[in-house]
Amino acid sequence: MTLNRRAFIGTGAAAAALLSAPMLGAQGKPRVVVVGGGAGGATAARYIAKDSDGAIDVTLVEPTRAYYTCFFSNLYIGGFRDLSSIGHSYGTLATDYGINVVHDWAVGIDRDAKTVSLAGGAVLPYDRLILSPGIDFVDDAVPGWSVAQQNKMPHAYKAGSQTELLKAQIEAMPEGGLFAMVAPPNPFRCPPGPYERVSMVAHLLKQINPTAKILVVDPKEKFSKMALFQEGWQKHYGGMIDWIGPDFGGANVSVNPDQMTVDIDGAVEKVDVCNVIPAQKAGRICDMAQITEGNWAPIVPATMQSRMDENIHVLGDATNQGDMPKSGYSANSQAKVAAMAVRGALTGSKVFPAKFSNTCWSLIDTDDGVKVGASYEATDEKIAKVDGFISDTGEDAALRKATYEESIGWYAGITEDMFG
Ligand SMILES: Cc1cc2nc3c(=O)[nH]c(=O)nc-3n(C[C@H](O)[C@H](O)[C@H](O)COP(=O)(O)OP(=O)(O)OC[C@H]3O[C@@H](n4cnc5c(N)ncnc54)[C@H](O)[C@@H]3O)c2cc1C
Repeated sequence: MTLNRRAFIGTGAAAAALLSAPMLGAQGKPRVVVVGGGAGGATAARYIAKDSDGAIDVTLVEPTRAYYTCFFSNLYIGGFRDLSSIGHSYGTLATDYGINVVHDWAVGIDRDAKTVSLAGGAVLPYDRLILSPGIDFVDDAVPGWSVAQQNKMPHAYKAGSQTELLKAQIEAMPEGGLFAMVAPPNPFRCPPGPYERVSMVAHLLKQINPTAKILVVDPKEKFSKMALFQEGWQKHYGGMIDWIGPDFGGANVSVNPDQMTVDIDGAVEKVDVCNVIPAQKAGRICDMAQITEGNWAPIVPATMQSRMDENIHVLGDATNQGDMPKSGYSANSQAKVAAMAVRGALTGSKVFPAKFSNTCWSLIDTDDGVKVGASYEATDEKIAKVDGFISDTGEDAALRKATYEESIGWYAGITEDMFG
């Protein structure tokens, strides 16, 4: 077996098992394999299957049977949604769209042979491969923290059990206790996400533990919708939230999960809950496919093809694409561009110029929603912002309520667009 451009998780025994595994999916049709059934991957799989009318054989590889959206997971923490309302199954993609849904991990990609190997031993051949694996965390990004400690100091930046755990820890805080967040450096998944989370934690604590405090340590001078969040924190949660930027040590932070302490530039704070959101990089399978440069996978904007392999398209958070934030809306928008390009390449269907859009809504308190968004186009170098908008500070309550209601409609729409 050549190791050139091949990478496998695990031992020689696993690799030997792969060599003897059957090849799946050969039906005489062009084959698309999609790795990752989240905002990018589920959308791409559905659009390719739906718009090609059975002419393309689509396989979706996703380890989890229920996908919990990170979007609106903060609203679950705040008590505005229950967990089941943000969980989605892949059943409709299989039954109504004929997608071959395989619940497994992709553990190796052979770009020469154009195959994806799965942890369970199967090998999937592809004509085009779509990777939308989301994020992984940069090792040692926050000294003292590792994934092995995520039960003591949850990240809750991949939704599901981590989000449940973080909420349970907040609910169990002692009266007047301290919640700390270690915020990530740019670029990271969902730029307003940590600050919406702070708002939702404050909303919850205000009801169940009003003398509790929130401390945010941040390596960034500025963050998304900063003026809007700071105005909202002052208005709804005055005195509860302390934000420490890099000028006051926010960039020099380590944690001790056993002691439940946070060291901020030499000053040690004892905390009751610590939400560590480490620096991020493309989901590991991108490294294994050798399509990353630094932490992210560069793409050709017009088609979302990897700059390193024209048979692979990369979507969503894993990409280095230019001006779009790493959001579910962005991943969904990029997926439709990739789906059109893939169909064009495999069936000769018409390909229109790529257009992208994004809006990120955040909830600050009951009926107090804000948003930021933009439209984008593909240039040779990057996905470039065309024009944008952002909520204003000082908006009236009716507009903020309408903005929140708009976000509820968006959530229903995007999850239907992903899962059918
Ligand atoms: C707290 C929070 C709030 C957010 N709020 C919003 C919001 O309001 N609006 C918004 O637009 N975005 C929001 N986001 C961001 C959004 O969740 C992500 O940007 C989006 O999910 C990215 O889509 P993706 O397809 O790149 O990755 P994901 O949606 O994470 O999907 C990746 C999938 O790939 C699978 N996978 C990974 N590796 C493998 C492998 N080797 N084999 C098989 N499968 C694999 C994973 O299991 C996962 O299901 C939020 C994020 C967070 C953390």
